[in-house]
Amino acid sequence: MRLSRYFLPVLKENPAEAQIVSHRYMLRAGMIKQQAAGIYSWLPMGFKVLKRIEQIVHEEQIRAGHIPLLMPTLQPADLWRESGRYDDYGAEMLRIKDRHERDMLYGPTNEEMITDIFRSHVNSYKDLPLTLYHIQWKFRDEVRPRFGVMRGREFLMKDGYNFDLTKEDALHAYNRHMVSYLRTYERMGLTAIPMRAASGPIGGDNTHEFLVLASTGESEVFYDDRVTALKLGDREVDFDNRAEVLGICEEFTSLYARTDETHDEAAFNAVPEAHRKVGRGIEVGQIFYFGTKYSEPMGATVVTADGNRVPVEMGSHGIGVSRLLGAIIEASHDDKGIIWPEGVTPFHCGIVNLKQGDSATDAACEGLYKAIKSRGLDPLYDDRDERAGAKFATMDLIGLPWRITVGPRGLASGVVELTSRRTGESEEMSAEAAVDRIAQIYAGI
Ligand code: ATP
Ligand code: MG
Repeated sequence: MRLSRYFLPVLKENPAEAQIVSHRYMLRAGMIKQQAAGIYSWLPMGFKVLKRIEQIVHEEQIRAGHIPLLMPTLQPADLWRESGRYDDYGAEMLRIKDRHERDMLYGPTNEEMITDIFRSHVNSYKDLPLTLYHIQWKFRDEVRPRFGVMRGREFLMKDGYNFDLTKEDALHAYNRHMVSYLRTYERMGLTAIPMRAASGPIGGDNTHEFLVLASTGESEVFYDDRVTALKLGDREVDFDNRAEVLGICEEFTSLYARTDETHDEAAFNAVPEAHRKVGRGIEVGQIFYFGTKYSEPMGATVVTADGNRVPVEMGSHGIGVSRLLGAIIEASHDDKGIIWPEGVTPFHCGIVNLKQGDSATDAACEGLYKAIKSRGLDPLYDDRDERAGAKFATMDLIGLPWRITVGPRGLASGVVELTSRRTGESEEMSAEAAVDRIAQIYAGI
């Protein structure tokens, strides 16, 4: 993309309404625009990152054997009357009447609807196990929408639902989700720690939240700091191998890590003092096992091998897709702007032309731009007629992990400059070498 033809409405001033850095940078970098409290338009660059995050979520769900579908945002109230949650859910649920005075709602979550789909089409234990998921907008009329996309009213969530014959099978689905989530967050450059949590309106007694440590997080967390060093890396996981999946879950949950809701002072005090940490975290996902809480009242049953009809064992599993943009920025920025991890960056690198209009620098930039695109990558070429300082400031603000700077002086000696946004370190090399290096960096991502 050429910046002169893109839509990147960067703000010079700090927006007064933004209290935390991710919200400030998302507004300043022209990623989102607020349309009403907690409701945002996703401007092109914000939309691009959102799509990259979605893509990672899809890939990791599919790798774990889970099946995508798409349910609507609007739901009939009657389904929620069947589960008993229509009255329980309270003011967070946006209730709507259609022209025929039928009660509808904008879905805050989808347990009822997926259970309805299941009971309409599945009848036999032979069709299990089954895990269906979607990535869809949710609406929760939060009392205090704030911090931009972090606590919105309309927000994008991945929510998945497992259907199993036995509790044991459903717990394997729970563990499978835990492992797939660990890799999902790692690919986004995040350390998200699974912490035992309280279940809230979804219900159930087995639940973990995934928290990204950040001083601006809304949850208070208590943890053994050795937990932050655990990594899944590129370990191959056989998601059908229960022992292997369980082993990984045990490895990641054996150290003390809890939110204030489940904090146990005595157990925490058993952590060696040097590792005992109290901090704050951003909840980027949560998994639940809740057995037959929905299948029982809604009649989602299957016939077993010996001919009995039993309600299915279920769980639900969510990732805060739009919240993740805020969480990633909270975890990765400096005083000049965002620092995107390679896994989610909106453009793979920036190209800065220091002397727009100079035929040699223009030609060199065009050449680089085309060469990088021909490697299947997506560069952002700052071809505006602007001062170098302004171009650097924009690049730093929008946070592309790599920048190639092209100027007449370098070109005279056959080099361009490759700069890492994270370390600020620059290296001079030929344009060809810079293209190779960028391609190499992204080869494994
Ligand atoms: P919270 O405690 O933050 O209100 P929750 O526990 O009610 O969230 P879940 O039902 O677990 O949320 O939803 C799954 C994920 O969706 C959460 O882990 C979070 O990342 C995200 N999420 C929930 N509410 C919001 C919101 N208002 N804005 C953006 N993301 C949200
Ligand atoms: Mg939650």
